[in-house]
Amino acid sequence: NVSVVLFTSDLRLHDHPPLRAALQGSRQVVPLFVRDRAVTGAGFAVPNRLAFLADCLRDLDAGLRERGGRLVVRSGDVVEEVCRVAAEADADEVHLAADASAYAQRREARLRRALEAEGVRLHVHDTVTSAVDPGAVAPASSDHFAVFTPYFGHWSRRGLREVLGAPRKVAVPDGVGSEDLPTRRGLAGLSPDLAAGGETEGRGRLTAWLRSGVAAYEDRHDDLAGDATSRLSPHLHFGTLSPVELVHRARAAGGPGAEAFVRQVAWRDFHRQVLAARPEAASADYRTKHDRWRTERTAGEDIEAWREGRTGYPVVDAAMRQLRREGWMHNRGRLLAASFLTKTLYVDWRVGARHFLDLLVDGDVANNQLNWQWMAGTGTDSRPNRVLNPVTQAKRYDPEGAYVRRWVPELAEVAGPAVHEPWKLRKPDDPAPDYPDPLIELSDGLARFRRARERD
Ligand code: FAD
Repeated sequence: NVSVVLFTSDLRLHDHPPLRAALQGSRQVVPLFVRDRAVTGAGFAVPNRLAFLADCLRDLDAGLRERGGRLVVRSGDVVEEVCRVAAEADADEVHLAADASAYAQRREARLRRALEAEGVRLHVHDTVTSAVDPGAVAPASSDHFAVFTPYFGHWSRRGLREVLGAPRKVAVPDGVGSEDLPTRRGLAGLSPDLAAGGETEGRGRLTAWLRSGVAAYEDRHDDLAGDATSRLSPHLHFGTLSPVELVHRARAAGGPGAEAFVRQVAWRDFHRQVLAARPEAASADYRTKHDRWRTERTAGEDIEAWREGRTGYPVVDAAMRQLRREGWMHNRGRLLAASFLTKTLYVDWRVGARHFLDLLVDGDVANNQLNWQWMAGTGTDSRPNRVLNPVTQAKRYDPEGAYVRRWVPELAEVAGPAVHEPWKLRKPDDPAPDYPDPLIELSDGLARFRRARERD
């Protein structure tokens, strides 16, 4: 008999429960990826992620070919394509990874109905896209955790399944047609320093990180210039790395750095279980409602200055320019850029979240929308009125100013931490003549924020 394995956010051969189950139960397997019309139509398929995806699909295909198989790529409605491929291959089973978003849940339900009508069974596998799946741990009084610390306690105590090796051989039936694999060529608007995708790349990065990066993670993860985080986020997003394997291997590395790193990976599962339980949180305020946000219509110029990295606050501008250049931003930069937009400029978090999703190679509905909500004070944060001061934060997390000088060339000649307050340098021999004045006084932003919060 024949099985179809539908790859979605799990573009790997190692530690892949759906592929393992398909190979155990069937003589032949069709590894399938569908370029899903609904995802493209929703504006989610942006150049940076399409490029990374193309790398992932090519690497997956290469890995399958080494094992005697190949990847089948189709475009269109995902449910129609899966049914069509199942019919062409005369398959009696389809295997799929469970996923957290509302879209993934709808896709699963539609697939189940359509396949059942054809007499084909759908198997949905847990612990593929999360280490601990949504709903696997829950508090007594609710369907999900809204506070991270107790969640993390349960998450940590939960046993993980064993890691599965990559298959040695994958036999794919003849006669199932495939489109050409996508490439990066022809994609306009890519970030020039975008990372490379693919399982091979992701595994290499993980091994290097566990050997020489993770030990210092606890001390250095907030060091903006040190760039001392794993940069594994796009690999977790596309599933070129398995979260279960990642946690096992980090725990095996041991030490306070690895523990702090695993805790951060648990934040990913935390947000996924919030989104799975409250799918509307992708666009609506999760907890505290705010109606007075400024928007594109009322704050268009401020928003454009923020997007382009010319707010006049160097650390915010550095972060926004890193995003454009690399399609990635340091977590501390994301926090500062989000606090500045939502609290200092009082702009709707959805405007910022959309811009991030347009560029981030790791752009992810759960992590992006819920982190934005966290910083905007509408989400799960227990201190919703916290405002990050970009000057004090810059002095703490970029004490020598090296991060700012790297990304804001207008300030490259300013030595030391003075780079964080260029307005203090304004004199006739100004070393930063091209750099803008602050868009707003921080105290004015804070006062507006407090007034609005009192009225909301
Ligand atoms: P590391 O510090 O090495 O952490 C390891 C992994 O843990 C990450 O790859 C990620 O999967 C997970 N992780 C770390 N921090 C968080 C967090 N705060 N929430 C959830 N998971 C976390 N992350 C995304 O993957 N996609 C997004 O679209 C995204 N948008 C964000 C938007 C804002 C406003 C903020 C404040 C954070 C956002 N994050 C997002 C979370 C975090 O900034 C990134 O995961 C992290 O910077 C990625 O770099 P890294 O892989 O080097 O992280």
